[in-house]
Amino acid sequence: MRLSIKALEILADHLPNWSRRLLDYLYPPRCGVCDTFWEQPICPSCREGWEFVEPPYCLWCGQPFPKVPQPSPLCGQCLRGRFRFDGARPAVRYSGVGRQTIHSLKFRRKARLAIPMGQVMADLLVRMLQKDNGLLPEPWQTPEIIVPVPLHPKVYRLRGFNQAEHLAREVAKGSCAAIETDIVVQARLTRSQATLSASERWDNVRGAFAVTRPELVKGKTILVIDDVMTTGATVNEIARVLKEAGAQRVYVIAFARGQV
Ligand SMILES: [Zn+2]
Ligand SMILES: [Zn+2]
Repeated sequence: MRLSIKALEILADHLPNWSRRLLDYLYPPRCGVCDTFWEQPICPSCREGWEFVEPPYCLWCGQPFPKVPQPSPLCGQCLRGRFRFDGARPAVRYSGVGRQTIHSLKFRRKARLAIPMGQVMADLLVRMLQKDNGLLPEPWQTPEIIVPVPLHPKVYRLRGFNQAEHLAREVAKGSCAAIETDIVVQARLTRSQATLSASERWDNVRGAFAVTRPELVKGKTILVIDDVMTTGATVNEIARVLKEAGAQRVYVIAFARGQV
């Protein structure tokens, strides 16, 4: 009998100690990114490869700025009032090891990677909630609900794995917020954002999401979790439907921020 890696990982979570040690002996744990033998989900050298997003960046949407003095604390899109969310932050840049980490989680289904990735996102949330965090004139309000960016049911069936959901579960562990995976659904199949230009991405996601139970989001502060944010079109569309359903505030934390 051959077991898939995913089946082994699930089994490993439910085994007594002696059999887990046997499993570790037969299949020693490896770094989810570079595959070297390592007990933790990610090895120190890959973890150190994450490039954290440091100032200067747009105070609203977290878009990193080039390291020259900026005329405004907001980027062009935010100055034009493009976004419906109340704030967004990425933890790391979508490049190098940060990018490889997302690919390993998403396409190689290295679910254990969601633990260290979710941890840096949870730390970021804590910083955004602190008074006088030096990042914003006003700290974020504490979210009551955490919503991972959903996949269309067809894509979910095909892939069997929503990376945003794994990250959201890790972020939720350290907070009082409830994770809700079916309040926002992807109602229309869209093309992969990664294959499209910036302007096509905005059209591609328009009207793609729906709120299933508006009564649960009314008056609430909601945190949307995604693995990577590029133009912000997807999370913006989710923020739009949540606001239309009565949500009071919508924030976004993404593991990484990419550029088109
Ligand atoms: Zn590694
Ligand atoms: Zn911005």
